[in-house]
Amino acid sequence: MARELCSGCGFSVRTCLCNAISIINNKLKIIILRHPSEEKVTKNTAHLLKLGLANCIILSGESEQDFPELASLPTQSTALLYPADNAIMLDKCTDATLDFKQQLTHLVVLDGTWKKAYKMLMLTPSLQHFKAVSFATLPKNKYVIRKAPRADSLSTLEAVAQSLNLIEQCNVDPLYHLLTALVEKQTQHMPQAVKARYL
Ligand SMILES: [Zn+2]
Repeated sequence: MARELCSGCGFSVRTCLCNAISIINNKLKIIILRHPSEEKVTKNTAHLLKLGLANCIILSGESEQDFPELASLPTQSTALLYPADNAIMLDKCTDATLDFKQQLTHLVVLDGTWKKAYKMLMLTPSLQHFKAVSFATLPKNKYVIRKAPRADSLSTLEAVAQSLNLIEQCNVDPLYHLLTALVEKQTQHMPQAVKARYL
């Protein structure tokens, strides 16, 4: 029998998160480029961003031809969230960084393990048109279900929440609330011994 999915949130009825959703009206448009290998990962947090943000799209693919939408993004006001050597640190409070953040309209985020994200970057040359942004200091990782999927051990949701908080000072608590709800739903049927390894 097929798993019954909630029409509201897309999760299984057993892990429905509709009650935990409170949409943030973000101005900065979030464009998530999701690697195909992430689509079946039930622990993927990009889907939560789609549910919790008014201005967020997910594009699936791995290379340039999969993302024709990138060509229409404004080069000056679009940033790529990626820890490149020359990345602008969003949490540094210099005048130049503040000016840069203020004029941003779009943020492109790669969703996949670091290895996959690096591959996407290499296969998608038009991403080089955008300035890279990253963090000098990482917030504490809240997503416990998926053990360190990326080298910075932040889930995609946390990386985007932190960016939105630093770029447009919006209150991102509803996103963390959604993440907490997901963790609770996913661990609710785990035996105590298994749960103890995560929490
Ligand atoms: Zn639901």
